[in-house]
Amino acid sequence: MTDKMLKFVKLDQQTPNKRKVNKRVDDFKEIYDEFIHDKAKEQSSRCSQCGVPFCQIHCPLHNNIPDWLKLAAEGRLQEASALVHSTNNMPEVCGRICPQDRLCEGNCVIEQSGHGTVTIGSVEKYITDTAWEKGWIKPIKIIKEIDQSVGIIGAGPAGLACAEELRKVGYKVTIYDRYDRAGGLLIYGIPNFKLEKFVVERRTHLLKKGGIKFKQNFEVGKNLSLEELKEKHDALLIAIGVYKPREVNLPGYNLKNIFPAMKFLTASNRKGLGDQVIDFDNGTLNAENKNIIVIGGGDTAMDCVRTAVRQNAKSVKCLYRRDKDNMPGSTREVNNAEEEGVEFIWLSNPKKFIGSDKISSVLVEKMKLGDSDSSGRKEPVPILNSDFEMKADMAIKALGFDPEDIPRLFNNSNLVISKRGTIKINLRSMETSIPGIFAAGDIVRGASLVVWAIRDGREAAASIQKYLEKKQVDKIKAA
Ligand SMILES: Cc1cc2nc3c(=O)[nH]c(=O)nc-3n(C[C@H](O)[C@H](O)[C@H](O)COP(=O)(O)OP(=O)(O)OC[C@H]3O[C@@H](n4cnc5c(N)ncnc54)[C@H](O)[C@@H]3O)c2cc1C
Ligand code: SF4
Repeated sequence: MTDKMLKFVKLDQQTPNKRKVNKRVDDFKEIYDEFIHDKAKEQSSRCSQCGVPFCQIHCPLHNNIPDWLKLAAEGRLQEASALVHSTNNMPEVCGRICPQDRLCEGNCVIEQSGHGTVTIGSVEKYITDTAWEKGWIKPIKIIKEIDQSVGIIGAGPAGLACAEELRKVGYKVTIYDRYDRAGGLLIYGIPNFKLEKFVVERRTHLLKKGGIKFKQNFEVGKNLSLEELKEKHDALLIAIGVYKPREVNLPGYNLKNIFPAMKFLTASNRKGLGDQVIDFDNGTLNAENKNIIVIGGGDTAMDCVRTAVRQNAKSVKCLYRRDKDNMPGSTREVNNAEEEGVEFIWLSNPKKFIGSDKISSVLVEKMKLGDSDSSGRKEPVPILNSDFEMKADMAIKALGFDPEDIPRLFNNSNLVISKRGTIKINLRSMETSIPGIFAAGDIVRGASLVVWAIRDGREAAASIQKYLEKKQVDKIKAA
């Protein structure tokens, strides 16, 4: 284990520690139960090597899980790492933050038979962390550089995975990102206690060493138009994610200390990365000693409540208009938050933010579940005369994200978008309505998961390669 890793020691994601709000910050140092070799071996050998690997089918990358579990059980970690990397560009990230309960582990036959899943994510993380420690993970070495270049807009998991796959083939690749650091939501969205930032940074470092160029603080649409960027490259990938927060338009919305989730999380992540964050240091974006109300029931809301707990909030409450069974977030994350002392106010809807200058409370109405909607989820219905007030020094709005206004952002009306505002692509080729421009990740799917972004990035790389090869052949034919 490296020194840096020791700082965060591992939180065994299957068995979160019991925690209480109001403990000292030191109590929340992320001390993961060490997932040591013996435990990895024990877990790996629990795999029954069943004939139908449901885990593999339900992993979006179709990782060859049974085979790498077998290799890990036999102590052949270097081979296991090579196999893990053959289908996944960031296995150490997925091992940490995939909602395994909904993907591989939720479909493990041992879990289905009631004996508890093989902890696939933890083994994947263990194999890859070991590979990093041992120096088995090397930068890309290309045999010959191809004289064609690809511009990638967005350094999130979709953009990074696509860049790596194309660079391996030999293309010149440049990634443009409007943030000062690469990683997208891995760096400024997902909290440090779930995904330590050095894990992201060592990956992007490796890609740089492999010859991929990064242009940070570069916003396409501002620093250069989409058209101008297209002129510089033979193909482009748009992988810009979704960042427009869904609003709660309530009376009192403009009171101080009401923040969108990303503002709160970014400040906390920047602090974790050692940046000076004035609004955190002066207390504005710091939950310490405050009564915090988080509105929303998805994974972003869970990240906010758990971050507030770690900042020593006085109380942390989560308002959600449906009940626990109908929450969109991962059950594991909700259970973790509950164990850490977060109070969930189920079936409750905010009606008004109250205060004079700053927020001091939230008026809430009780809800009940009515008929199911088109997605099968039960619609929440207000209960008359059920209003009550809840004290709040800070409210965090975590209701999800939509795409930004893409035609306006890129000043380009030729890029066809869907009704939801996501970029429309040809599902086979991942090409947009503009030839030579491809798209992947959240900006195509809507807010999704890292593992899906990686898969999209890999598939886009394969399509871009096909496109570039054809372009080259056409050029030779025309000459
Ligand atoms: C708080 C939070 C927690 C999450 N937790 C999890 C989790 O635990 N597990 C999980 O699997 N998923 C999680 N997700 C979802 C996951 O992070 C995303 O699905 C994934 O990051 C999408 O990858 P992407 O590459 O499509 O976009 P992003 O990661 O959003 O990256 C897009 C990049 O594009 C850049 N960009 C945008 N516009 C421009 C422009 N005009 N010019 C240049 N650059 C631009 C951005 O700066 C950013 O770096 C979470 C999301 C959030 C918000
Ligand atoms: S990538 Fe995610 S879903 Fe696939 S095996 Fe790893 S943890 Fe499971």
